[in-house]
Amino acid sequence: KKVRIGIVFGGRSGEHEVSIASARAVMENLDRSKYEVVPIGITKAGTWLLGSEPELLQAASQNVHASEDPAIQAVTLTGDPTVKRLIPLHANEELQENGALDVIFPVLHGTYGEDGTLQGLLEMANLPYIGCGVLGSALGMDKEKMKMVFDSVGLPNVKYLVYRRNQWERNPEAILNAIEQQIGYPNFVKPVNLGSSVGINKAHDRTELEHAINVAAEYDRKIIIEQGINCRELECAILGNDEPLASVVGEVIPSNEFYDYNAKYIDNKSQVLIPAHIPQEQAEEVRRLAIQAFLALDLSGLARIDFFIEKETGKVYINEVNTLPGFTQISMYAKLWNASGISYPELLDRLIELGIERHEDRQ
Ligand code: ADP
Ligand code: MG
Ligand code: MG
Repeated sequence: KKVRIGIVFGGRSGEHEVSIASARAVMENLDRSKYEVVPIGITKAGTWLLGSEPELLQAASQNVHASEDPAIQAVTLTGDPTVKRLIPLHANEELQENGALDVIFPVLHGTYGEDGTLQGLLEMANLPYIGCGVLGSALGMDKEKMKMVFDSVGLPNVKYLVYRRNQWERNPEAILNAIEQQIGYPNFVKPVNLGSSVGINKAHDRTELEHAINVAAEYDRKIIIEQGINCRELECAILGNDEPLASVVGEVIPSNEFYDYNAKYIDNKSQVLIPAHIPQEQAEEVRRLAIQAFLALDLSGLARIDFFIEKETGKVYINEVNTLPGFTQISMYAKLWNASGISYPELLDRLIELGIERHEDRQ
């Protein structure tokens, strides 16, 4: 009997298009002699669609309402409570006829997908799924709590401060002074819960700092300010549950002053080096720290763990984890595993097994 796998993609986050590209690659590479694929698209407005693949992908990318396209079976949600979203999927006739899904792959990046919300829904529905659980996903999305866990196990963080939006509004002078005294310039200002470099700015002086905090505060009620490191950027892919494996280490060479949204997705000029040209011992250190971070945050299935190497000192810092990193065949995660001897289709097999295994472990 084939494994029925639901691919959830699209979604309400700013990374909707990235998610569609990832989902397309997943669907194209799942071995159809082993898997029956059920695509479940979420439009930008939050409508869940269930239907045939190409139509669904197109509808999701164009954000078409299913009611306008009879070829697509759609569930338009009225209220917002998350639990309601599940009911239409179960009540859907097509699904009922063909039996339940065996496993879900949430191929969603950013909020409402990578952050533990969908994972919570799947836990409630008792459905096995690929990737990190509720806690790991939430920790991976919150740069403050992630760093607090890293601090607690001695993983090397850059210096950072976190403020709430209301604190910033009440006393900007005091906050600017504190940042200048404790962090200095240049520094990076980020919304705490986001990804893809959205809302992130590098500040070189007080005017830029003030502006950067205002920008970050538009995206989130929590703002993190980090010491800016003059660095090379390294990435390591992890695969596994309680005995995770680390891939070879890769290096990203951003096309801009830092790896901003444009350098990641638009200008196509950033470079990737696999393996990174770093000494063997340093690569080993990165792999060891990556596994330590994966376990400390209670992650499972997959994650990409990102690091900085300070150019002047060679010191390694951990930057962040991404629990659902870009997942096309040319994404860093897949490339790192490919260079480590695991092909993309094989990666999918392993992740599905790991998702089912994790579900059984928790019963
Ligand atoms: P996101 O989750 O959006 O990818 P990151 O924290 O990884 O956010 O920051 C995006 C990019 O900004 C990094 O890849 C790096 O280029 C740059 N950057 C972020 N923080 C720092 C820092 N403390 N020092 C130097 N560069 C940084
Ligand atoms: Mg990130
Ligand atoms: Mg990043």
